[in-house]
Amino acid sequence: MVVNFQWPWLGVIIPCVLIAGIGYGSHLFVFAAYLSNEKQIIFEVLLSILWFSYYLAIVTDAGTPPKNFQPPEGEWKRWCKKCKNYKPERSHHCKTCKKCVLQMDHHCPWTYNCVGHSNLPHFLRFLVWVMVCTTFVAVELGKVALKYYEDRNLPSYLVNKVEMFAVILLLPLDIFVLASILILFIRCVINFAFKGMTQIEVWELERIESQIRNGRIWTQIKKNYRALHGKELPKLVSWSKHSRFHEEEPELEEDDISDLEGYEYEIEESIEEEEDAVASSVVSKTETRHDFTSDDLIFPYDLGFWRNLTDACGSPLVWMFPWGKPRTSGYLFIKNEDVEEDQLGLPWPPDGGHQENLEGFVDELDSIQLEDLSEEGKRRKLMRIRDPRSTLRRTEWMNDFGETLDDFGVDLDAEDAENDHLLAK
Ligand SMILES: [Zn+2]
Ligand SMILES: [Zn+2]
Repeated sequence: MVVNFQWPWLGVIIPCVLIAGIGYGSHLFVFAAYLSNEKQIIFEVLLSILWFSYYLAIVTDAGTPPKNFQPPEGEWKRWCKKCKNYKPERSHHCKTCKKCVLQMDHHCPWTYNCVGHSNLPHFLRFLVWVMVCTTFVAVELGKVALKYYEDRNLPSYLVNKVEMFAVILLLPLDIFVLASILILFIRCVINFAFKGMTQIEVWELERIESQIRNGRIWTQIKKNYRALHGKELPKLVSWSKHSRFHEEEPELEEDDISDLEGYEYEIEESIEEEEDAVASSVVSKTETRHDFTSDDLIFPYDLGFWRNLTDACGSPLVWMFPWGKPRTSGYLFIKNEDVEEDQLGLPWPPDGGHQENLEGFVDELDSIQLEDLSEEGKRRKLMRIRDPRSTLRRTEWMNDFGETLDDFGVDLDAEDAENDHLLAK
């Protein structure tokens, strides 16, 4: 969810009001009358830990690149004109923190801080303590609400009105906070542990996949391959399209496969099958047919569930303690074994963020004749080609949730790829 505050400290004040309102409100108006002293003390201890973990999530730096950082060979050399320093892989310049952030996940308006390499464990612990406290409140207020229901036949003057008002107000509010934080926590864990990705990298992967589907990526990929390896990109083959492909898109018929294989492949097919004269001009430009799908992409930083988790948060013995911290440097990363199989043979992202190479692309799309295709083929092709996002620049591109790079807090001005180049191996 994208939230931008005109007055940024409001993003911290709102959670403070919620923690204090739900926590102390429940204690004062309800728990004091219903819970044992031991339970009340436990609740106050949990609430104090929550405050402390929130404080740490706000004040702990997300991690900045070392001074005069030099990217390793074979990587992108990305210059941050604002920090006057090279950006390590996976880092971005935050428009609010006004500095480059290591392994940037997103800028969190609720902590007025970036979530990145060094403070991710603090952020996750904060979410966990919110879930612990809100669950405690939900259970105890729920019991009181149930008691009201059981006593519904008693005369109303026996019911404490203030207490009842507190239960009716705080219970739904508490459940709303719990549900929101649970969703955010699950999203973070799926990204970090299961995929080894930051939220920005999930977005980047979706962008690259869309560029493969509409075929726009190949000009840049070929250029990058030539720059890094000093030779032409060989013909690529798909490892996945005949196996995983059908599981993911079971509703399609064999004849429609060409529609999903990327733009160049699509055009070639249309020539072979439809002898479309206009489209041939596009093919002559693109030369090689790349039988490569987004399933063949390899994300290099995913080291497997357990390794991702322990690299990001340290040993499980310290996960819940404030001194639990990442095991990696945040600016140099080990890559998984799958990169050996990577046909693109380029650092991540393979297009280096160059999504502005658009010369002629729109005209080419418009020039393609569709008359000779079947109705269904036409519909699918139009859907694919005329994706309103296919002509956007990287800084404008949005995922299916409408999220742009800007929504994650990245400074778009410091993201221009003009001065970036690949370091030869
Ligand atoms: Zn910077
Ligand atoms: Zn930030």
